[in-house]
Amino acid sequence: MSITGKLYINGEWVTGKGSSYQAINPAKGEAIEPPMSAANASQVEVALQAAAEAFVSFNQTSPEVRARFLRDCADEIMNLGDELLERVTLETGYPRPRAEGERARTCFQLRMFADHVESADFYDARIDTAIPTRTPPKPDVRFMNQGIGPVVVFGASNFPMAFSVAGGDTAAALAAGCPVLVKGHSSHPGTCELVAQAIAKAVEKNQLAAGTFSLIMGSGADVGSKMVLSPVVKAVGFTGSFTGGMALVKLANDREEPIPVFAEMGSVNPIVFLPDALKNSAPAIATGYVGSLTLGTGQFCVNPGLALAIEGPELTQFISELKTAVGQVPAGVMLNKRICGSYGESVEKYLAYDGVELIASGHETTGTEGFRAQATIMSVTGETFLANTHIHEEIFGPAALLIKCKNKTQLLQILDQLKGQLTGTIHCTDDELITHQDIAEKLRIKVGRLVINQFPTGVEVCPSMVHGGPFPAASDSRFTAVGTASIHRFLRPVCYQNYPEKLLPAVLHNTNSFNALRTINGIKTRDSL
Ligand code: NAP
Repeated sequence: MSITGKLYINGEWVTGKGSSYQAINPAKGEAIEPPMSAANASQVEVALQAAAEAFVSFNQTSPEVRARFLRDCADEIMNLGDELLERVTLETGYPRPRAEGERARTCFQLRMFADHVESADFYDARIDTAIPTRTPPKPDVRFMNQGIGPVVVFGASNFPMAFSVAGGDTAAALAAGCPVLVKGHSSHPGTCELVAQAIAKAVEKNQLAAGTFSLIMGSGADVGSKMVLSPVVKAVGFTGSFTGGMALVKLANDREEPIPVFAEMGSVNPIVFLPDALKNSAPAIATGYVGSLTLGTGQFCVNPGLALAIEGPELTQFISELKTAVGQVPAGVMLNKRICGSYGESVEKYLAYDGVELIASGHETTGTEGFRAQATIMSVTGETFLANTHIHEEIFGPAALLIKCKNKTQLLQILDQLKGQLTGTIHCTDDELITHQDIAEKLRIKVGRLVINQFPTGVEVCPSMVHGGPFPAASDSRFTAVGTASIHRFLRPVCYQNYPEKLLPAVLHNTNSFNALRTINGIKTRDSL
């Protein structure tokens, strides 16, 4: 089945009754066939009702069934073969190796959640047995996590697979037993449809309810808002702009029944370069930094866009290395016209402020078609930065602002002023890290992930990852969007008191048939009761 422009609603492929549009190849600025369709309000309603119905049965599926389904999703994505990879590169301008890497990451995430569900540890089952002889008598109480309900996932523009239709949010929600309604991103609608075809096959193969998964395309303000406002929906996953994320948080809070929105809204990801590290290895650090800054044309939420260093000969040398490194970077293709336009405007705006100086830009390339952007590194003094909050914002793309701090006191003062961030990085020697623990400590309270002598781009998918952080990096700093812990965004605890054992969910039976790690009368064990 190739790309048809259809939507997947209630187990069927249907042409959207909303507007029709075409994807744009950002490398050339040309429309891509075929025409794609958007949903209208009544089609969205059908998908919502199907999700509500599906929740009843999908929520009760065993870990084994959900694990098999997630693995089938991964297998079916791989079965899409070259068609998927070609469409991703056409719709995003990403080179083929990036598409291959992201596909691998997407399938890995699905399989990781399959393993995680199978372990049954996510239930966090707890059993406190009755003590009838106590005064007053203690009842039998049993606790477990269960899926929260249907989840709406807003696909991100910059990760057409790993944070899109079958991305991290979708994998976590399905693993938790929640039907998913995806609001696909209009920057890569063909990719959305192909991946939805893979999930649809896995739904059918596992004989799951039709509304377990839906693909809805259309504008956020229109179909996206309608889904967030529906009483059927119990949580929202989002990756994108601060404006978009906050609009959804507000919508969700204004509902009669407010629901959580897990919005990951990006950040400037401060990176501190300490003098001895620069003295020892300025060329290598500069090359690594420019590589991280310009990876994927800088379109990563963990892009290290704010650099801090203390004035001195080491910094002068580092700036000269940065000039060399960034001067070799050719202009890169950006995801779409809007993102490219907004990048150019933001850089221009920054350079127009008093005290913001251009260190260097990437080198001019002959290719001018499509939506291209040049890397840019700018600098300011610490005083200027502290005095102008307009230059504290994220520039989405390959741009960095280097703050030349007068001394360590000023560097700490600047870190104090920063808002919540996804990551914070320090380049330092071993001794510097010990001597300057106060810098690490200031960063720690602002970020979700601290990085030493590496770069924040390349978010490892593993159980210990945190991809989130204090507001405004994310709308809820208690949760991560990457790693197995992200399943907790879509779970809620339920407890059963004095409930007949044979009627309890299997994980709460006396016999531990899943070999789950449970807490029995306060002790963690895999033993049966
Ligand atoms: P976006 O504008 O925030 O859109 C993301 C998704 O949310 C889209 O599906 C969009 O639908 C929907 N949406 C946005 N505003 C909405 C609203 N008020 N109500 C309902 N739905 C809404 O992000 P983008 O299109 O990916 O890129 C735009 C900017 O976002 C970039 O320039 C960059 O600054 C930032 N960004 C950040 C990250 C990050 O990782 N944090 C990633 C990508 C982009 P429609 O497109 O149909 O409106």
